[in-house]
Amino acid sequence: MMMIAYFERRQQQQQQRLVPDGDVELDPDHSILRALDSDATGDVAGAASRDFGGMVFLQPARFLRPSTADDIAGAVVLAARSSRLTVAARGNGHSVCGQAMADGGIVLDMRTLGPGMEIVRCGGTTAAAADVPAGALWAEVLSWAVRNHGMAPVSWTDYLGLTVGGTLSNGGISGQAFRHGPQVANVTELEVVTGDGERLVCSPSSASDLFFAVLGGLGQFGFITRARIPLVPAPKMVRWIRVVYGAFDEYARDAEWLVTRDDSAAFDYVEGFVFRNDASDPVSGWSSVPIPHGSAFDPARIPADSSPILYCLELALHYDHIQADNVDERAKEMLRPLRYLRGLEFAADVSYVEFLSRVGRVEEEARASGTWATPHPWLNLLISSSDIADFDLTVFKRVLSRGIGGPMLVYPLRRSKWDERMSVAVPDGELFYLVALLRFVTPQAGEAAVKEAVAQNQEILSHCRNKGYDFKVYIPHYESEADWARHFDGDWTRFIERKRRYDPMAILSPGQTIFSRARPPAAVAASAS
Ligand code: FAD
Repeated sequence: MMMIAYFERRQQQQQQRLVPDGDVELDPDHSILRALDSDATGDVAGAASRDFGGMVFLQPARFLRPSTADDIAGAVVLAARSSRLTVAARGNGHSVCGQAMADGGIVLDMRTLGPGMEIVRCGGTTAAAADVPAGALWAEVLSWAVRNHGMAPVSWTDYLGLTVGGTLSNGGISGQAFRHGPQVANVTELEVVTGDGERLVCSPSSASDLFFAVLGGLGQFGFITRARIPLVPAPKMVRWIRVVYGAFDEYARDAEWLVTRDDSAAFDYVEGFVFRNDASDPVSGWSSVPIPHGSAFDPARIPADSSPILYCLELALHYDHIQADNVDERAKEMLRPLRYLRGLEFAADVSYVEFLSRVGRVEEEARASGTWATPHPWLNLLISSSDIADFDLTVFKRVLSRGIGGPMLVYPLRRSKWDERMSVAVPDGELFYLVALLRFVTPQAGEAAVKEAVAQNQEILSHCRNKGYDFKVYIPHYESEADWARHFDGDWTRFIERKRRYDPMAILSPGQTIFSRARPPAAVAASAS
């Protein structure tokens, strides 16, 4: 897949289709369009035609604001009756390759979906869950659950400005996933509108195939309108720790040991990142490590023979004020066996909400510097632990030794925490690493820098393929059927069968570029006559 070629081709397509063609069959007086506050001008050219990636621009025919699942079903039925309309659900538009767009089709603004969030008690037990609309941001779920109920979900993303439906359609990964599984493994019931416009409630015990299809299903089998997410009592405080390593093998050995410990001896959160052995790089050098921010990083602690790349393990321990007395002891005990560079450890005590909201500060800084609005050629990979040392040697130490202008995350996850019945594709090995190359391009750097970053991503992908790594792209984007078949590998047939079952005309989520919209039988017959 050549993303540059793709980018240029999409721009050409857009120029050709600024006016939706005559076959689009969108009668502006249609009751659904009138009821859903459709806007054919302002917003169509705005939010619905762009995303966080800032590299793909596709103009929809309509941007609708549904407030109920029935509104969504109505829009899907309207599209099904046409000969070529497609429908995309837009969460918060934080995709990077146009996945939430519909070229000349209908985009649904899932943020407007109601009703509000509510607590449910499960099966007459005291266990609680939250029923939340799919367009709610995880930040909204956090603040509602903690403030009103003293409860919280167990599995998060690093950044909380993402929608529940958006991350459940992909995976939802953060430092809790090694222990509790990703967000797709922490949901017990979904309400879904399928490609037939049918509204169904599904769970592991009822309509289970649809339930698992939709989880990590890239929006292909149905739009999630409501999700039931188990809650636990929210911890009050977090001991947030960072420790630095000079050698990748020691970093990886410790990280893998930490994510395979029994729950009783495990941290509550394990992540990690690569940073440059360099004082002068303000984004990915030494200064990116210390917490609380402003505390000193002593370079004398770095061995003289260290590589240009260093590693930082990020850990967290939950505690309540009542237990505060022993958190020092617990943290000390848990850090003792680790082989990090003594003297390069950092810690801060923050509230649970503050900890989970930590990336919000990064967002504020990026908005202020202008890098939130520039293109984001991001690449996320899941790479088996058997290949990660080679990846470190070739990619981190050589290809990316000058940094990427943003965070480079690398930390292990466990396959056994993912359910194989879900659609999401992960590597075969039990331990695999999330590698997230979160590139930020300064406004001054311009388009050449974006193209260079995209080309570098391609080089990295080619390297992974050529070396035969056991790996997957996370938040994938491919153009050809062959690439999608390779991505899903042994599950590709199941993916196609599920598409036939739940969205036979391929109306849903065209921005993923997996399937082409099929014409309804009547339209095919009419065009043939
Ligand atoms: P969108 O980008 O709007 O949609 C994503 C896809 O899902 C589209 O195909 C869309 O059509 C479909 N979709 C949206 N809503 C629904 C629905 N209700 N039902 C069915 N399909 C739907 N990911 C992680 O796992 N962990 C992280 O820590 C993390 N951090 C991120 C930080 C930033 C700043 C960004 C930009 C992304 C991050 N991501 C992370 C990736 C994120 O999970 C994806 O971008 C995802 O797309 C969620 O974004 P969204 O809610 O805006 O969904």
